Amino acid sequence: MKDKLDKLAGRRVIIISNRLPVSVSKENWETTISPSSGGLATGLASYHRDQEGLWIGWPGYNPTTEKEKTGLKNRLLNEFNCYPVYLSNLEIKKYYNGFSNDTIWPLFHYFTTKCTYDPTEWDYYQRVNEKYCRTLLEVVRPGDIIWVQDYHLMLLPEMVRREVPDATIGFFLHIPFPSMEVFRYLPWRKEILNGILGADMIGFHTYDYSRHFLSCVLRILGKEQNYGQIVVDNRVVKIDTFPMGIDAAKFIETVESEEVDTEINNLMKSIKNNKLILSVDRLDFTKGIPERLKAFEAFLEKYPDWRGKVTYIMLCVPSRDKIQQYQLLKKEVDELVGKIDGRFGDPGWSPILYMYRSIPFSTLVSLYASADLALVTPLRDGMNLVCKEYLACQGQLKNGMLVLSETAGSAAELGEAIIVNPNNINSMTEAIHQGLTMPEEDKKAALKLMINRIKRYNVFRWADDFMDQLLKVKENQEHNEQRLLAGRLKRELLTGYEQADKRLFLLDYDGTLVSFKKKPEQAKPDEELLVLLKKMAADPQNKVVVISGRDQDSLQEWLAGTEVDLVAEHGAWFRERDLDHWESAQQGNTTDWKDNIYPLLEVFAERTPGAFIEEKSSALVWHYRKSEPELGSLRAKELVDNIRGLLNATGLQVLLGNKVIEVKPVDINKGKAAAIWLAKENWDFILGMGDDWTDEDIFAVLPEDAWSVKVGFTAFTKARFYLESHKAARSLLDSLAEISSKVIAG
Ligand code: UDP
Repeated sequence: MKDKLDKLAGRRVIIISNRLPVSVSKENWETTISPSSGGLATGLASYHRDQEGLWIGWPGYNPTTEKEKTGLKNRLLNEFNCYPVYLSNLEIKKYYNGFSNDTIWPLFHYFTTKCTYDPTEWDYYQRVNEKYCRTLLEVVRPGDIIWVQDYHLMLLPEMVRREVPDATIGFFLHIPFPSMEVFRYLPWRKEILNGILGADMIGFHTYDYSRHFLSCVLRILGKEQNYGQIVVDNRVVKIDTFPMGIDAAKFIETVESEEVDTEINNLMKSIKNNKLILSVDRLDFTKGIPERLKAFEAFLEKYPDWRGKVTYIMLCVPSRDKIQQYQLLKKEVDELVGKIDGRFGDPGWSPILYMYRSIPFSTLVSLYASADLALVTPLRDGMNLVCKEYLACQGQLKNGMLVLSETAGSAAELGEAIIVNPNNINSMTEAIHQGLTMPEEDKKAALKLMINRIKRYNVFRWADDFMDQLLKVKENQEHNEQRLLAGRLKRELLTGYEQADKRLFLLDYDGTLVSFKKKPEQAKPDEELLVLLKKMAADPQNKVVVISGRDQDSLQEWLAGTEVDLVAEHGAWFRERDLDHWESAQQGNTTDWKDNIYPLLEVFAERTPGAFIEEKSSALVWHYRKSEPELGSLRAKELVDNIRGLLNATGLQVLLGNKVIEVKPVDINKGKAAAIWLAKENWDFILGMGDDWTDEDIFAVLPEDAWSVKVGFTAFTKARFYLESHKAARSLLDSLAEISSKVIAG
């Protein structure tokens, strides 16, 4: 506990979610506020209640007068560390029932036909997110750690970022993040992605959800990821998986309580010591309740011996019951229960005990502890905590079993359960039978593994892991910011330039001096660049070398008249400004190897629409900039594996550039070329600039005090500094050329 708070170093945590972790009610002019004991509130309690943390959200109740509003706000703040956002009935209808629960909830759970795409509701969603943002701005202080929760507030991270650019912001999504094919249905998909990317740390329950999010960001926003990191406006945003747990100890302790003991005795008497099957869900269409009832019906039909010997307690907690879809579901469930009880029940036995309400915690634990089998078979569920709660209560009174949907997030952690496809009624029927007849030893062994895991990865660990990662990401960002070649650093560079007599410039071309184009031949230099290079090279104290992967002819034609030295094909060829011919770096290299590699590249180019091969004198290049990004990078990785298999002892290497794969002799690289120029003079100012992996070879050979500059931010580089874009790179060169012009003129 102490460690946890120490790491925050006195910083306050502000949690923001749609609802506050309290319930407010009013009776006889008396307002009662009681804390809710939900999993999230428990997990975050130490961050929220200690260190003067704060929780912002809707209290679930709307005071009618200003005086009442202020009174409630003061009580929430003073007694519960909570700060309210008051929502009007219309806002609740459009933002909460509407966009959040009628669009995002069904879409993210893959119920695409249940989604509405209503622009007015979207408008309210934006406005209410803005309202949360304004409320946060009333209380936020420098250094606060802001943690935004869930799908109701996906625009909030970016909104806060705009107002407080250096804020520390975490975002966690408690529901699934769907695959690109489903997410793309959303008319406001870009806005939602950009909204979430305002955070520094983005957390999901499972690896699949993280993967889906990264894929959507790539395909919809065109932003690449690197080991789960995405660069957004020079900020490295981290995406990671944090499966949420429960407060296992609380459940285990409660099983041992006297209260639970009495309740269990009563319960078992009432079901005549039958085998007990249990399910606990909110009444929601994602929970697969009708499908489960059908499987139970089929089970009684197929295994008649179990009739009269098993009781299924089905607890459905009312949810969103003002929405028509939910009312229809209630009707369907009521009818199915009636049908099964009517079909199989007799005066002494009801197959299903159906409860449509919320029950006290001790009763819930009694049910968990005494059930022989839990059916947790949602059609789709972000995580599902019920199955973890059930398992935590098992192993003391009984060794029960769990039937779990493969489409619940928790299935990724609970592989020892009986895993089912919730749409396959047959396999669910068999799973019920299997669960009830499984040997005691097998159940015990499976339970032991699952319970240990649940104890270890509890909800406190979940919150701590997320917080640790968020702080780490922020620390890295701060470290990276110090490497941006701006302000004091830029002034230092300019002074260094001014004072130097012999200056060397090693400049990459594509991505550094010009932006990327879909076709290689479209990246011709514009007039501005030609003038700039000419100016730089005109200063007799400067030596400017353009070190490119381009072929000789393109470089010669494009940069003619600039008087810069040229290095073509990543160092295979070079040409000094005063010489009229190219020199080769490939002493003794043959190009016979091309005959072996070319056919392989060809096969991959045919399999990857948009990919093509470029043949250079010393290299073969496989381009995939025009391909669909995910397919392109997938095939590229495959291709590299294939080529590497062929390369043993051939003296060749594979280079992964920006959307290109280049195969060429090992002894040719930009670093070797750079070394030739580095050795020519005793330079007192060296600037090396480049944007991709091939430029790392230049950075690697530069002396320690040289200015090595990565263009376009990435988390992994040997360069000491970075600039945002090729525009920033040009602007830096412009400042240098300006200094030279003044000196020459003066
Ligand atoms: N629960 C409750 N009251 C009840 C029955 C269950 O508060 O009468 C709780 C249950 O203990 C669990 C939560 O509701 O913590 C359901 O969480 P889950 O992740 O399984 O599903 P969700 O409802 O969030 O989709």
